[in-house]
Amino acid sequence: RKWVYTFGDGKAEGRAGDREHLGGKGANLAEMASLGLPVPPGLTIITDVCTYYYENGRTLPEAMKKEVLAGLKGMEEITGRGFGDTTNPLLLSVRSGARTSMPGMMDTVLNLGLNDETVEALGHNAGDARFAWDSYRRFIQMYGDVVMGLGHESFEEILEDEKARLGHDLDTDLSAVEWQHVVGLYKALIEEELGEPFPQDPLVQLWGAIGAVFASWMNPRAITYRHLHAIPAEWGTAVTVQAMVFGNLGSTSATGVAFTRNPSTGEKALYGEFLVNAQGEDVVAGIRTPQSITEAARIESGSDRPSLEKVMPEAFAEFRSICDKLESHYRDMQDLEFTIERGKLWMLQARSGKRTTKAAMKIAVDMAAEGLIGEEEAVMRIEPSSLDQLLHPTIDPRVERDVIGSGLPASPGAATGAIVFTAEEAVAAEEEGRKVILVRVETSPEDIHGMHAAEGILTTRGGMTSHAAVVARGMGIPCVAGAGSLRVDLRNEVLIGAGVTLGKGDIITIDGSTGQVLRGRVAMLQPELSGDFAQLMDWADRTRRMTVRTNADTPTDARAARSFGAEGIGLCRTEHMFFEGMRIQVMREMILAADEEGRRRALAKLLPMQRSDFTELFEIMHGLPVTIRLLDPPLHEFLPKTDEEIAEVADAMGLEPQLLRQRVDALHEFNPMLGHRGCRLAISYPEIAEMQARAIFEAAIEAARETGAAVVPEIMVPLVGLKSELDYVKAAIDRVAQEVMTEAGLQISYLVGTMIELPRAALRAHVIAEAAEFFSFGTNDLTQTTFGISRDDASSFITTYQRKGIIEHDPFISLDFDGVGELIRIAAERGRQTRPDMKLGICGEHGGDPASIHFCEGAGLDYVSCSPFRVPIARLSAAQAAI
Ligand code: PEP
Ligand code: MG
Repeated sequence: RKWVYTFGDGKAEGRAGDREHLGGKGANLAEMASLGLPVPPGLTIITDVCTYYYENGRTLPEAMKKEVLAGLKGMEEITGRGFGDTTNPLLLSVRSGARTSMPGMMDTVLNLGLNDETVEALGHNAGDARFAWDSYRRFIQMYGDVVMGLGHESFEEILEDEKARLGHDLDTDLSAVEWQHVVGLYKALIEEELGEPFPQDPLVQLWGAIGAVFASWMNPRAITYRHLHAIPAEWGTAVTVQAMVFGNLGSTSATGVAFTRNPSTGEKALYGEFLVNAQGEDVVAGIRTPQSITEAARIESGSDRPSLEKVMPEAFAEFRSICDKLESHYRDMQDLEFTIERGKLWMLQARSGKRTTKAAMKIAVDMAAEGLIGEEEAVMRIEPSSLDQLLHPTIDPRVERDVIGSGLPASPGAATGAIVFTAEEAVAAEEEGRKVILVRVETSPEDIHGMHAAEGILTTRGGMTSHAAVVARGMGIPCVAGAGSLRVDLRNEVLIGAGVTLGKGDIITIDGSTGQVLRGRVAMLQPELSGDFAQLMDWADRTRRMTVRTNADTPTDARAARSFGAEGIGLCRTEHMFFEGMRIQVMREMILAADEEGRRRALAKLLPMQRSDFTELFEIMHGLPVTIRLLDPPLHEFLPKTDEEIAEVADAMGLEPQLLRQRVDALHEFNPMLGHRGCRLAISYPEIAEMQARAIFEAAIEAARETGAAVVPEIMVPLVGLKSELDYVKAAIDRVAQEVMTEAGLQISYLVGTMIELPRAALRAHVIAEAAEFFSFGTNDLTQTTFGISRDDASSFITTYQRKGIIEHDPFISLDFDGVGELIRIAAERGRQTRPDMKLGICGEHGGDPASIHFCEGAGLDYVSCSPFRVPIARLSAAQAAI
């Protein structure tokens, strides 16, 4: 078998499509090399070696080592240098590369191959001894940290002490001899701490670094990142070993990162940052604030530091043409890393660029207009759940802003919260339900938990490609980065800005779209869903087969859902209407009435309220289907609990509180979710169903008269397990329908259907379909009853199940295709055997989950119904499922 794939000099053994084995980085380096782009030669050790490594007590296969050595030979031939050669040494970088990028989560070793002899040769060849000793000390530091496990800080301490002793402020102030001295101190530290010397044999260094990069696949921050992004641990990482090129060889050298389009807005303009005389990590680490690549961007940012376009026009021109070439080759926006070594451009990485949802929309729509991709592909390019990002509020432009500072608009949207200065505080705040803004000088991968927990992120150092900016955009969290006019004083836990000093807990607002930092809370506006969003949604709507309805119980929900494009109501949970205002009181009277007569008295008071609820919903939906479900929850949910509440109800009913307490106790259930609820209520107390049916029909007639639209109410009976249950309730509904229509002198059409939310109903669907005119899958209860897991108690152990690998995802969030899904397929098929044209939908939470929507498409459902804010997600998911 083959463990190693080489690339370089216009050739490559791998291809872009083979990310699974080569990892994203290795695959794209191979592709760039085949395209004839300037890529330093190298080799990629495939992800299978990572699996081998963990299955074999953290060892590397011998056969792989042979292939690496053969690959090294090729690299030596291409570069004309020798690995370990003491006159013309080849130096290497060793980097991770998973199937999808996990920025900064794993380890890297640069300048590998340096030792006490090769360092002299490097200095001699570069004509720069200072550079060589600086490179050597960087290597020892990285190697000591990553491979030997000594920790970055002990090295930093030595360097800081030396700088203090020599009276230097900056690293760049150190001379060759001074760096050489630091190297000596570093080596002594290693020997003292570990009892073994820093390895001088380049091959020992190489195997050590390769092993360490594989080991970093299991470091805590990589594990956290994978958990957050649902990346399976089995994938493993590849390792790429590549010839070093240097961006820190003086003023004709540079290093940078760029996006072929703006990753925040999507605007079609080359966008990036670079540093002269610097090594790769310096740009992303945010230690020096980088310069713009293009003149246009420099002018826009108002910076007086020159652009790459200005300082290195030739390298810039070549880079720009490579950007165009790569973008049209991959037909997507690219995120590129490059280095210029003494005027010569080298490409170090290309990958599909991470972007905000807003940018993703614009890029997809623009690329379709440019003819690079088709409309369907544009629809496929947007991650449905990322639409959540668009729903972020922005600061109302009419309000006065108390600006205390500003930085780069690194990730859009505005957020308000209390200041915290550490990731741990952010996590603790989230657990207590407090909203916070994480304020840091800069962030690092260790902060990832806290970043996720915060409403927004503010840093005072670093650029648009700094860690904070990249991660926040990926998470869809607003971020202002590099706010240099603000100062964080960690010792005193304060943030100092234009004339103000704010402490931990003080409220600030950040505007990730303009970069402003404001004091206090400000009025926000909901986002505008037009332009590119509307265009893409239009394409999605034309593509999808399933319709998208909403779960809405109130006029507010219904209106919001309409504005998001809902095509009807798939579930109106009528019980929610009974909790409002005075209604709960009347509802309690009804439930606690001693007999049918008492119940009817209370129901008569509820009727006009229900009627007006429904009339309003019918009017808002203007002829679109509206599914109304009869009362479902166990009655105890409405019961008075405190003595005060009981006294109040007793008073209204003219009863002794004592007597009422007895009735409340009598209604107690041990397992209410499996108790007296759903259609069981309508069978025990048909008068409740009758009142609801009357309210629905009277409202439908009224709305039909008022709007002139045909209103076809769909009445849904919950928790049916037996056809006879549905028969009984349907008979009552039909009876009321006739009465109301006769009274009104107007005939309207209506449907009576049922929820399928019990396994028995799914299995007996062909029989139930004789009575039901439609089915709606209540997958919340269907999941609960299929698994026998209480939906209200699941959270206490589901996360443990996930952590222990018992289940992959929470079945209450994303449908369990194998079990619950099988019941849906059975019910759909059997239902349609009896009634071929019956409408099938889903109204459980899964109706707004992209993976579950895919499943529904496959099962042949007609519609999905979800909460209003998920309607755009469902429209897009349904389209993607149909493509
Ligand atoms: C369901 O069970 O999936 C459903 C939609 O009903 P509810 O969540 O109201 O029980
Ligand atoms: Mg239910």
